[in-house]
Amino acid sequence: MPDKHNDSPATVVVGGGPAGLTAAIALAEGGIATVLVGKRPGTPDNRTTALLAGSVTAMETLGVWAYCAANAAPLKVMRIVDDTGRLWRSPEVKFEASEIGLDAFGYNIENRHLIEALERRARFLPNLQIFEDEVRAVMPQSDEVEVELKDGLPLHAKLVVGADGRQSLCRKAAGIKVDDRRYPQVALTVCLRHSRPHRDASTEFHTPSGPFTFVPLPGQRSSLVWVLDPAKADELAALNDDELSNEIERASHSILGKIEVEPGRGLFPLHVATAQCFADKRIVLVGEAAHVVPPIGAQGLNLGLRDAASIGELAVGAHRRGHDIGGTGILNAYDRMRRADVGSRTLAIDLLNRTLLTDFLPAQGARGLGLYMIDRIGPLRRAVMREGVAPAAAQPRLMRGEVL
Ligand SMILES: Cc1cc2nc3c(=O)[nH]c(=O)nc-3n(C[C@H](O)[C@H](O)[C@H](O)COP(=O)(O)OP(=O)(O)OC[C@H]3O[C@@H](n4cnc5c(N)ncnc54)[C@H](O)[C@@H]3O)c2cc1C
Repeated sequence: MPDKHNDSPATVVVGGGPAGLTAAIALAEGGIATVLVGKRPGTPDNRTTALLAGSVTAMETLGVWAYCAANAAPLKVMRIVDDTGRLWRSPEVKFEASEIGLDAFGYNIENRHLIEALERRARFLPNLQIFEDEVRAVMPQSDEVEVELKDGLPLHAKLVVGADGRQSLCRKAAGIKVDDRRYPQVALTVCLRHSRPHRDASTEFHTPSGPFTFVPLPGQRSSLVWVLDPAKADELAALNDDELSNEIERASHSILGKIEVEPGRGLFPLHVATAQCFADKRIVLVGEAAHVVPPIGAQGLNLGLRDAASIGELAVGAHRRGHDIGGTGILNAYDRMRRADVGSRTLAIDLLNRTLLTDFLPAQGARGLGLYMIDRIGPLRRAVMREGVAPAAAQPRLMRGEVL
């Protein structure tokens, strides 16, 4: 284990969110001396994450899932309900995990429990040291990267994993630009109790302002992500708990019965961003440092975990062969490995969101027809489900249950 004031690690991971912690655990488990530097976020994260099957397998393989299981609810059924009230409406579509031979598409867990589980696992790893600190500067050089912490300590590493979120300092240090677009929408998030059981089903209402999605939590609880226009989101966020509960019950046509919101609400402006390159100058980007997608279809962190698993796989392989873990070969391979997965998911989410927002009838019709075909054509339907859970083009080894 590197000593904070003497040795230098082979890898420094910047950012202690779920993507950074997963990358650090994968690297350290594979025998690479790793330091994770993470500052605590300013506000508590009350969101939940629907971890799809491949991500759950990766968590099992990394020894994290045992700490998550009690706080996670299975996602066995996914319903999409067209609540746009428009001329071209699609039929209700219902996907069941059993149709593709799975017990569940994935599991939903509150982010605070996921982070806690990752931190517990991280503390057991002799190759991993965690500094609760802020990185002030990242300075790439030809054969290493210097990382300066707020307490003044310099670290030197062969590879830096930038998992420092949307405003990534690591990305700027690598000189990587971002393609970035805002949507005229805000996601309101809240966890809630309800009087009727969810029966392990998520329900996504497609509304003219965006999706309104209930995702099950253990017991008679669910999380809600409600995509709205910004003025309406502000209006709802300003309501007291009883008023907001009533609004949610009304908007959900009472499918979960009486609603009681829990303390803690979040407002997240919708935005899509993709780094023009995922690795340069001995710095690789993972999670939201590399890509941000709107919270539609539970893809964001699942992509981030595949980033973490991919850099783990590449760097551990290079380390075992005695190669430079931050060399150009590894950086280029990482960029190639992640580009198709991130690009295809971003495009699909963007298209779906735009067809909800648009008043253009043919686009609305295309969405309706697409959902109708998925509903009616069995092989297409199963292919869509399999691709949603485990993309054929991007299954790093950890997602297949293989230890690094
Ligand atoms: C409403 C909503 C719902 C969502 N639901 C889902 C879902 O169901 N499924 C899914 O897969 N995804 C979902 N997502 C996406 C998911 O939440 C994000 O992808 C995920 O939180 C990003 O994790 P991260 O580790 O990349 O970044 P973050 O969680 O932002 O972590 C970055 C960390 O880096 C730290 N940091 C930043 N700068 C520094 C520095 N200089 N020094 C040290 N530390 C630093 C920060 O404090 C933070 O802890 C949702 C997103 C939203 C907005």
